[in-house]
Amino acid sequence: MQLTRFTDLGLRVVMRLAVAEEGVRPGSREIAEELSVSYTHAAKVITRLGELGVVDARRGRSGGLAITELGRTATVGWLARRLEGEAEVVECDGAIPCPLRSGCRLRSALRRAQQAFFESLDTLTIEDLTRNPTGTVLLALPRIGGADTQISATNGE
Ligand code: SF4
Repeated sequence: MQLTRFTDLGLRVVMRLAVAEEGVRPGSREIAEELSVSYTHAAKVITRLGELGVVDARRGRSGGLAITELGRTATVGWLARRLEGEAEVVECDGAIPCPLRSGCRLRSALRRAQQAFFESLDTLTIEDLTRNPTGTVLLALPRIGGADTQISATNGE
């Protein structure tokens, strides 16, 4: 099974925010640059992470992004399910619906596999993902702008 780029980016963002120093709130542009993704994609993901309550995004001079307690303690499976949405592994009911869909054993097997995939991610929290060696890699990312970056718009930009 493959995660969407949206979900992978969401997990990257929360991992990066989980290692931010106390009181330091990076902006979404900084996060996008540090993670080598487009600002547009990062902003969309950060908006969704805010809706889910795992990221606190504030505007203004002392604004920026921070991971919430829920974000630290949420399981990777919980977050991945919400970022992925309800889509099945295979699109059986698309523009040209599959003729086997009324009684397909493959479809039910893929649903079980999808469920098992997410359940395997339920054993890890976001904080678990930031243990070494990942924590060291995250902390070594080149910091863009630093702690004094001016915050000017939505998503803690
Ligand atoms: S064969 Fe089964 S799983 Fe594949 S598209 Fe058709 S209904 Fe879906």
